[in-house]
Amino acid sequence: MSGTAWGLELHAAQCANCRSEFLVAPNAGAPLCPGCLAARLEPIPALEHTEPPELILPFSVADATLDANLERWRRDIPFKPASLELAALRKQLMPVYVPMYLADASVWGTWDAQMGYDYLVASSEERYSNGQWVSQRINETRTRWEPRAGEISRQYENIPAPAFENHAALMAALGDSNVFPYDTSRAVPYSGEVLKNALVRASEIENAAAWNIARLELERRAANDCRAAAGAQRQEKFSWRAAFGEPHWTLMLLPTYVTSYSDDDNNRLPVRINGQTGHVSGLKRASMKKAQSWSLGLGAVALLAFLLTVLIALGLILTRQALNAAGILLVATLLLTLAAPVPMIVAWQYNRVNVSAKGTML
Ligand SMILES: [Zn+2]
Repeated sequence: MSGTAWGLELHAAQCANCRSEFLVAPNAGAPLCPGCLAARLEPIPALEHTEPPELILPFSVADATLDANLERWRRDIPFKPASLELAALRKQLMPVYVPMYLADASVWGTWDAQMGYDYLVASSEERYSNGQWVSQRINETRTRWEPRAGEISRQYENIPAPAFENHAALMAALGDSNVFPYDTSRAVPYSGEVLKNALVRASEIENAAAWNIARLELERRAANDCRAAAGAQRQEKFSWRAAFGEPHWTLMLLPTYVTSYSDDDNNRLPVRINGQTGHVSGLKRASMKKAQSWSLGLGAVALLAFLLTVLIALGLILTRQALNAAGILLVATLLLTLAAPVPMIVAWQYNRVNVSAKGTML
């Protein structure tokens, strides 16, 4: 693909496994698909949507923060697979930009809603304390609900909307709360120099489909504006009859890192990092194989202790010290036998609980 519009040479590529499409720098070779990590990206003639973005949010998380966050993320995993070392995660780190739309649109129409006005009710409570009655003032917040209606006419800017299918799942993984995980106000005009050698996830959602989602966010913002204009603290049952101007679209790239580690069956498990905040997310897996060798090791020591006990009992049964030693060894055998399956139980239980973050996200 000619890369003039993007400011640098980029090739179209697709994953044979999950079919996700990317733009790849020519010197990148055939990178592992950052979406599923199950296949390498293969060249394809062209992408369906080839327009370059207007804005790009540069990678800005410091190396030290990245290391600290990765270390904190992996720390609580018991019986870590060998590839879950910090150095290995660092070596696999792949910068990937994902696309997102921002819509600007004007809206006009009428609305009605139930608006809630908070007010304080002061009362006093009598309490018997230390032999006397004490009066205590109590302030309680109540809400008065009133119907309100009005007109709205205004312009909304930078309404986020998805440009690829797994946008919502990825955004939820890259932050802690329901708040959008990036500060998009720090975006800069797109240039090939900011993009450098990062992979770019191709946009695949048409503006018309993205508009359906942007409109929900626009309605949420409009409802909030109407509540503020009515001077209310709460609102319910917002409904409106609105017309929208033709939305203006901006395509923007968001920075993410993908790294990975292998589980016992050699599946690569993705670890995703927000390239702005350093927030880490991924499926945490303990190695059953590692736990198993610990269990076998404990079992072997238990067997050794038992054999020593038997040897002492058979050969040196007459001395008092030997009998004492045999007694201690027998207790040790019992404890080791009980402890032997613990590593496997811990690893199995850990993997059973940590299953939520699975799935392809790019
Ligand atoms: Zn893939």
